[in-house]
Amino acid sequence: MVEVSPREGEHTLRTEDIVQTIESLGESVALVMFSGVNYYTGQVFDMDAITKAGHKVGAYVGFDLAHAAGNVALHLHDWNIDFAVWCTYKYLNSSPGGISGVFIHEKNASDTSLPRLAGWWGHNEDERFLMKKGFEAMPNVDGWQLSNAQVLLQAAHLASLQLFAQAGMPQLTAKSKKLTGYLEFVIREVGQNSHYPIEIITPTEARGCQLSLLVPQEGKKLFDYLHTHGVVGDWREPNSIRIAPVPLYNSFEDVYRFGQILKNGIQQG
Ligand SMILES: *Cc1c(COP(=O)(O)O)cnc(C)c1O
Repeated sequence: MVEVSPREGEHTLRTEDIVQTIESLGESVALVMFSGVNYYTGQVFDMDAITKAGHKVGAYVGFDLAHAAGNVALHLHDWNIDFAVWCTYKYLNSSPGGISGVFIHEKNASDTSLPRLAGWWGHNEDERFLMKKGFEAMPNVDGWQLSNAQVLLQAAHLASLQLFAQAGMPQLTAKSKKLTGYLEFVIREVGQNSHYPIEIITPTEARGCQLSLLVPQEGKKLFDYLHTHGVVGDWREPNSIRIAPVPLYNSFEDVYRFGQILKNGIQQG
């Protein structure tokens, strides 16, 4: 397994370095597997460019979209991505342990000769209960199903997806850009006026909802202050706070109030 790291002194990956790594490994690469959005930095990767680079050396290209699904615009089919997986309990609100999502590109889904982890639910539906020997994959994404999916989990997920469909991803991402842009503004204001060192490591030009902040090591106290004052974020050792205003249910007023709480938290030291 070959990993790609940020350059010395940088926090996020450059697309050119990812592409160059794939090119230099050439045909020895079987699979390019990346996240769509990095969980720690909030960086959105150029999935289109990574997929093209992977295909150029004859590799399959897959993405882990745990932090991307419901967060940023995805064009998996158009980007020609081979497959993708995601959980639905983050931006898609389907609760911990919720059902997972899988994308298999049409070109792979219809190829029943591809090796797979086969389960009876992926077998040709017309003959599923004839109990014949052998496995005959359904010639679409259903051919990758392993077994029954949990109905209660699907019900929770359906309710969430209906809300997403009603709001519309284009509207949500448009609001998200403004909301996270406003969050960035508020954090910079508070940081400047208090001289408390907060570094935003999430790239402005490649991000979804989330901003990852580097704070001094005693920043855990600040995080705890935020938490006890109603801000639900995430602390990562040794010095990072992740904050993600989501367009479906967070408002600009929420972000403003976050700024007030942040300011008070810093003043309390
Ligand atoms: C949350 C997350 C997952 C999902 O893992 P589960 O096994 O569904 O809990 C996968 N990949 C990344 C990067 C994640 O952040």
